[in-house]
Amino acid sequence: MKVKFWGTRGSIPVPGRSTLIYGGNTPSIQVTSPDDDQIFLDAGSGLREAGIEFMKHPSSNELHLFMSHFHWDHVLGLPFFIPFYDESFHIHVYGMAHDQNNIEGVVDSLISPPLFPITKSEFKAKVTYNNISPDSTYEIGNVKIKTFQVNHQCCTLAYKIEEKNRSFVYVTDNEIKYSRLDLNSLENDIAEHNVKMIEFCRGADYLVHDTTYTLNDYSQKVGWGHSNNVSAAILATLAEVKNLVLFHYDPEYDDEKIESLLNDTNSLLKRLSGNVNCLASKDGIELEF
Ligand SMILES: [Zn+2]
Repeated sequence: MKVKFWGTRGSIPVPGRSTLIYGGNTPSIQVTSPDDDQIFLDAGSGLREAGIEFMKHPSSNELHLFMSHFHWDHVLGLPFFIPFYDESFHIHVYGMAHDQNNIEGVVDSLISPPLFPITKSEFKAKVTYNNISPDSTYEIGNVKIKTFQVNHQCCTLAYKIEEKNRSFVYVTDNEIKYSRLDLNSLENDIAEHNVKMIEFCRGADYLVHDTTYTLNDYSQKVGWGHSNNVSAAILATLAEVKNLVLFHYDPEYDDEKIESLLNDTNSLLKRLSGNVNCLASKDGIELEF
C-alpha cells in the first residue's frame, strides 16, 4: 500500500516562507493499493496537485474519493481535481451528509454561484455519489474501507483502510474525549471515554490523527472539535498502533513549531510505552508498507 500526503494543514491553506518544510495545503491523501485501486481521502487544497500528478500517468479510470466531512478545508480542492473534467473517468464520491441532505446536494451547494463560477454540470467524468454511514465496511477490489463517526461537528467520518494484513487509519478532525484536562489522570480518562475509537484504531500500521494543537494551545480551544498531540499520543499508545502520524496542524504553526510538536510527541511516546513511532506528516511525503 502506498500513501501520499498532498495536504496536511488544518483550517486554511498557508503557503509562504514559514511553511516551506511541512507545506501549506489542506487535507488530501492518496492511497494506492497493490492492485492499483485509487482512493483519495478528502478534497482539501492538496487535491488539486494530486489530480495534476495523477493525470500524468493515469493508472486507473476508476477513482474513489472519500470525504471525512464538508468543512471548507476539506472541500476546497474538489472543483480543481482535473479528472472530473475528463470523460474517460468514473469517479465515486463518498461521504456522510447532514440531516436530510444527500452528498450530491452538498456538492451542488459547494460548486454553484455565487460561491463558485460553474456548477458540477461541467464535470465530464461519470460521477457517482454515495451516501455512506458510520460503522460500515465498503469494498474496493481487495481493499476494505471501514467507517467510524468521530467527535467533530456532525457528520464526520474516520476511515480505516485494510488490505491483507496492512491497515491505515485516517482521523483528520476529531476531539479526543476526556472528562478533565489533568495530565496525571489523562491516560485512564482517555481510555475510559474513547473505547470504540481505540478499538477502531487498534494495531494499525499507521494512524493519521488530528494534532491541530499543543496541549497548551488546546486549553484555549476546548470544544472546537480538534485534538492536541498529548491526547493523540495517549490514544495511539492505548490502540497499540505502530506509527502515529501528526496531521491537520493549526494554520498559525510554522515549520519550527511543527518540529517542536514532533519532538515533544516523540518524548511523550517514549515515556508512555516506547512502542509507537511518530512522524509529522508533510505535503509531498509518501509511505509504503
Ligand atoms: Zn479540518
